[in-house]
Amino acid sequence: MKEAFLTADQAKKIAETYPTPFHIYDEEGIRANVRAVQKAFAWNPGFKEYFAVKATPNPEILKIMLEEGCGMDCSSMSELVLSRACGARGSDIMFSSNDTPAEEYRFASKIESIINLDDITHIEYLERIGVAFPETMSCRFNPGGVFRMSNGIMDNPGESKYGMTREQISEAFKLMMKKGVKRFGIHSFLASNTVTNEYYPMLAGQLFELAVELHRETGADIAFVNLSGGVGIPYMPDQEGNDIYEIGEGVRKKFEEIMVPAGLTNTSIYTEMGRFMTGPYGALVTKAIHEKHIYREYIGVDACAANLMRPAIYGAYHHITVLGKENAPLDHKYDVVGSLCENNDKFAVERALPKIEEGDLLFIHDTGAHGFAMGYNYNGRLWSSELLLRGDGSVKLIRRAQKMADYFATFDCLPVSEDIKEIIKEEGLE
Ligand SMILES: *Cc1c(COP(=O)(O)O)cnc(C)c1O
Repeated sequence: MKEAFLTADQAKKIAETYPTPFHIYDEEGIRANVRAVQKAFAWNPGFKEYFAVKATPNPEILKIMLEEGCGMDCSSMSELVLSRACGARGSDIMFSSNDTPAEEYRFASKIESIINLDDITHIEYLERIGVAFPETMSCRFNPGGVFRMSNGIMDNPGESKYGMTREQISEAFKLMMKKGVKRFGIHSFLASNTVTNEYYPMLAGQLFELAVELHRETGADIAFVNLSGGVGIPYMPDQEGNDIYEIGEGVRKKFEEIMVPAGLTNTSIYTEMGRFMTGPYGALVTKAIHEKHIYREYIGVDACAANLMRPAIYGAYHHITVLGKENAPLDHKYDVVGSLCENNDKFAVERALPKIEEGDLLFIHDTGAHGFAMGYNYNGRLWSSELLLRGDGSVKLIRRAQKMADYFATFDCLPVSEDIKEIIKEEGLE
């Protein structure tokens, strides 16, 4: 069963200071999980988790990760700047971008982050835009075809836009060696949200074999193998989660089997997990504001898909706990909806839940990664605040809610009259 990390009383108290909806993150949960990941890979002395910034791009969360010894995995200029501002330096930052603009490469190079090249043509591109080749660089690999695991989970690398083919990566290594690159990384991301302990070990097996081949072929020093993200979390209440210790042990076995006999014993293992690091330790708390009885029973809440997009775009399941009614019978069937003029704006469809009354607080689970971060402003809906729940039970505002003025800020010449401004202010929306 899934349990909320807040009680009804706690949530009500928080909502008195910070109005719903809000995303809230459990600091202790995040820290304990980072430590488990590091323990699971402690057999590899160079192990480093580069937290995927895109999952939860909030400075307080990034600082927690940095404090715990993680690096930052960035995919854009804003993420690079954010990571720097939070204290990340040099090889603390992995720039795993694709379709990368020139100015972002130049910036990544100036701050000496590790550049992970998505394509062979970018070698020449870097040269053309005047970026010098550092001693350590990485290449992203795409094996093509279909990636299968024994439990049926699979993905289609052959249809994905990322990475280089097998032939290209050999060629890329040789070209880069000529340009002075001395230490190489190999990176690959083959399946998303994998809820199986098999994914990383299987991927590691493929990348270790590739590392050995590339080392033999080109003499390249393989400094690290980056398993990237894709380790999933159990969104469904009856689903069993991954065991990170079993995953770490599975990767270790492949290392012993493939890397050690080839003499590649000093290669570091890097990961770029996002979802697994923060997903379960965040929630969207929203208030029931309407109920509606037509052909189905609807509960309208004060959050919408602009605050959490996954159900609307992927049909993703997010478990819901009605706070204070944890033990009540699930004898009602509701569609839990937001206010967008878009019928996909449903956090739950025909979900068995306890009877919900106006004012009830709903705890939407597992929004700690790719939750707030995917927010948008469709229908003129504003972003919520983000809060951090500390170990001592105190709460810190780590991003204020977006205001009207933020929404209008990119219109350089929109006159809003004084009387309208007054009303906005009266409603506390300015
Ligand atoms: C999205 C992404 C990640 C994180 O993926 P999760 O599924 O959240 O673990 C890591 N690396 C790269 C390059 C990504 O694009």
